[in-house]
Amino acid sequence: MPGSSGRTAPVFDPATGLVTAEVALASVEEVDAAVAVAVDAQRSWRDVPLARRAQVLFAMREAVVRREDELAAVITSQHGKTLADAAGEVQRGLECIEFACGIPDLLKGEFSAQVASGVDVRSLRQPVGVVACITPFNFPCMVPLWMLPNAIACGNAVILKPSERDPGASVLLAEIFRDAGLPDGVLNVVHGDQVAVNRLLEHPDVAAVSFVGSTPVAKHIYETGTAHGKRVQALGGAKNHMVVLPDADLDLAADAAVSAAYGSAGERCMAVSVVVAVGDVGDPLIDAIRLRLDKLVVGPGNDPASEMGPLITAAHRDRVASYLDKGAADGAVTVVDGRTTTVAGDGFFLGASLLDQVTTDMAVYRDEIFGPVLCVVRAAGYDEALELVNTNPYGNGVAIFTRDGGAARRFEQEVEVGMVGINVPIPVPVAAFSFGGWRASLFGDSHMYGAEGVRFYTRNKVVTTRWPDPATSTVDLGFPRPD
Ligand code: NAD
Repeated sequence: MPGSSGRTAPVFDPATGLVTAEVALASVEEVDAAVAVAVDAQRSWRDVPLARRAQVLFAMREAVVRREDELAAVITSQHGKTLADAAGEVQRGLECIEFACGIPDLLKGEFSAQVASGVDVRSLRQPVGVVACITPFNFPCMVPLWMLPNAIACGNAVILKPSERDPGASVLLAEIFRDAGLPDGVLNVVHGDQVAVNRLLEHPDVAAVSFVGSTPVAKHIYETGTAHGKRVQALGGAKNHMVVLPDADLDLAADAAVSAAYGSAGERCMAVSVVVAVGDVGDPLIDAIRLRLDKLVVGPGNDPASEMGPLITAAHRDRVASYLDKGAADGAVTVVDGRTTTVAGDGFFLGASLLDQVTTDMAVYRDEIFGPVLCVVRAAGYDEALELVNTNPYGNGVAIFTRDGGAARRFEQEVEVGMVGINVPIPVPVAAFSFGGWRASLFGDSHMYGAEGVRFYTRNKVVTTRWPDPATSTVDLGFPRPD
């Protein structure tokens, strides 16, 4: 439906800098209308048998597979990441649909017979109702798919509010799901900005909110949503460290650092943004990273030769670039300055940057830059590296590179971060586990997708049953005891 608020926002092709669309920004009334549709649709969707819901999920999976290339093209045209990266994002989203296809098994309750004389108890999980899913620009397909399959499979209706910067993938997903047989009104895409989001947070008919985005907004979403009685999971920003111990395979570590720091131009919540070089590994590691950066191809995402695309907007590119001046002013050593990389045209490009001798008091270390800037911090030993990671305000992802199994196991136990990689630079859990960070990377206590997702989108009910012989019935004002 076209918007009626009169407010719109431009959508750019970040590779050319051209405006390719205007997205309408919903008014409060438009949000209310979408919620009313969702409430209505949920009443019948919650009664659809689990076997039928699973069939719809299977059909949704097949339909996404059929239109994977189309989805990747839309992602690249509005986000800027390379087509290969966009296809990878669709794949990781597909995993979450596949997980939700098992909904008849996932929603199995518990049962205990004869907990007291003639008494049986069972639990059942019921949908919460209408769920608001609010997503960021950096994974315009995968993050919605972290949420939608489980929310829908559990019998809820969804209002999806994608990022206004690259909303195309959400629209295409909704079209794909409708064509696959998802009934009208079960998934509703509402475009908008904070006006729409704030209305969703206050709306009495929205039961739960799944949010992924930056930390200040995540905190606002959590505080406002819970103040209005909603169940909220709000995933925030990150500053992910990669600890490289002196015994690590240098080439492996350098490949991993470059892939994880500069993939998707650093616009990943699981991107490595700090390498912690332990002992004497710093100098050779920096040399190895620099060699790789010399060969990195920056260009439009739809050019198969490009390894790194542009940033999302000119303003964001300029903000990221400003950290290079800040870093230098604070005393960091600029090993590679991405501003020297140029790409023809007006796209929002910035080359890969590498800063050495970064310390924890510098803005480049403290802030989430969310761009292709990798900081190297030197640490004398394992304990100093661990302390650095554990005292960072964020706790999303972390990786350790080593050949020492004992050190890796110790790190796994001692590090205070939600997702840990051992010789794995971007440890995004597969769909059967759940995704979530600690500290300022997550508000609420429920991680996303996997079993925690199913719990988040359902309410538990416990039913206690007895079929007594009416002849034995008496009045008994005492508290029920399990005899
Ligand atoms: P963002 O916080 O600016 O926006 C996220 C969503 O919130 C969008 O839909 C946006 O329209 C809405 N929004 C923005 N400002 C708002 C406000 N003041 N009030 C209400 N709603 C508002 O995030 P972004 O720039 O789109 O995405 C990048 C951020 O997301 C980074 O910080 C990144 O680390 C984070 N992120 C985190 C994860 C994770 O799993 N922890 C995953 C992906 C991205």
